[in-house]
Amino acid sequence: MRLQNYIDGRLQPPRTGGYLDVVEPATGSVFAACPDSDADDVESAFGAAQRAFPAWSATPSSERARFLNRIADLIEARLDDFVAAESRDSGKPVSLARSLDIPRAVANLRFFAAAATQFASEAHTENASINYTLREAIGVVGCISPWNLPLYLFTWKIAPALAAGNAVVAKPSEVTPLTATMLAQACIDAQLPAGVLNIVHGTGPRAGSALVAHPGIKAISFTGSTRTGAAIAATAAKTFKKVSLEMGGKNPTLIFADWYASDANWSTILRSAFANQGQICLCGSRILVERSIYSSFRDEFVARARALRVGDPNEPACDLGAVVSKAHFDKVMGCIATARDEGGKILCGGDAIKLDGRCAAGWFIAPTVIEGLDQQCTTNQDEIFGPVVTLQPFDDEADAIAQANATKYGLAASVWTTHLSRGHRVASKLASGIVWVNCWMRRDLRTPFGGVKQSGLGREGGFEALRFFTEAKNICIQID
Ligand code: NAD
Repeated sequence: MRLQNYIDGRLQPPRTGGYLDVVEPATGSVFAACPDSDADDVESAFGAAQRAFPAWSATPSSERARFLNRIADLIEARLDDFVAAESRDSGKPVSLARSLDIPRAVANLRFFAAAATQFASEAHTENASINYTLREAIGVVGCISPWNLPLYLFTWKIAPALAAGNAVVAKPSEVTPLTATMLAQACIDAQLPAGVLNIVHGTGPRAGSALVAHPGIKAISFTGSTRTGAAIAATAAKTFKKVSLEMGGKNPTLIFADWYASDANWSTILRSAFANQGQICLCGSRILVERSIYSSFRDEFVARARALRVGDPNEPACDLGAVVSKAHFDKVMGCIATARDEGGKILCGGDAIKLDGRCAAGWFIAPTVIEGLDQQCTTNQDEIFGPVVTLQPFDDEADAIAQANATKYGLAASVWTTHLSRGHRVASKLASGIVWVNCWMRRDLRTPFGGVKQSGLGREGGFEALRFFTEAKNICIQID
């Protein structure tokens, strides 16, 4: 399967003719080739976007919404194909791609189609004048996304950018390029005007950095690691681009002694630790437990983690599939080795899992729970982004908050308590862009999404995203 770029309304090979291997994580075998695009391909995508921008930005928002809804319908009509492709490309269970990834990509497109028609701006009046603010499309913008929720995060950026009237050059992760290519076909089938959306495949250092450095691209919306975000911010500063950066996390899960230990809550906590093999930026990788219930919580949590089924992503019963690549497998296994060196006690997991048959050469890691490490060690400071969590006890509310806040990250947190005021009080003191109380990853797409400290700059979601993808222009009229 040879994937192509989507430029100027057509599928095209990369100008250099170079391709990258796309590997199925569950089997370790190469199954597709992804364009290894470079600055020339980005230039050609930019040219197409620049030509498309005047007409697209002048298109009524209701008409732009119609295109987004049509693309959403086409994805939904091919749901099974998209689900199979997302699972094959990333190693995630088919059941997860079906319940989360693809429905959410469809929802992103429909949500921003509706939002475009509801977006309004302010007017300010005083005696002698009236001010009103226009929200104008920026021009050609760039969207760069990671591999963990491929189509979900790709559409989360593209949809608001297009809805606001911009033309887009987008680069999906080179590790999981499949569903972005299928999205391109849906855009062709929906007769989206040529050049409005361009999808350039390739690596970060080649295609990605060319996009960020391009002087004509006015804004970059990025989701990925903090390290890449820092490099993008430095490059973007040279041309004063707007940037929105959604980056890494080391999220705490705070369990107070009075939490409601129902079966449903246990399963949410398990999901918050291990969903998508722990490769969701929102996963809680540091579980902080009030000391009085520490041992009983630990024993039950470990028993439930052991019972999770790691297996072929195609098996409906599997809870965890493969991690995304050999390089990522090596990274996560290295982090487990570091935890051992730091004196951590592995309560369960800690090893690779070897499956038989089709998946014998895949990259599977057992859900891993570690205790006995303090907050300052590398294991509790650095993002692992795999099925690995630590358990730490805390003494009281102040101690819980201090431990929760003691990293350079601040993306998400969850707090588990039946004490109403404590839930509010602790949530307000956590240095985090998102706090869930007695739940995890419940998403209302109207809410601001993003992190503080080294987890993020700016917010996505709802009108925040439409504000990012527009420039405000204030017009003041003297009226007497
Ligand atoms: P990554 O930073 O390696 O890559 C992300 C994207 O950036 C890819 O498309 C990549 O090709 C591109 N890229 C890499 N170097 C670049 C450069 N110099 N210039 C321009 N583009 C470049 O991240 P990843 O490994 O794909 O994803 C995992 C990371 O993403 C984790 O840190 C995770 O926490 C983070 N993440 C954050 C959120 C969030 O909403 N905050 C969501 C999902 C994932």
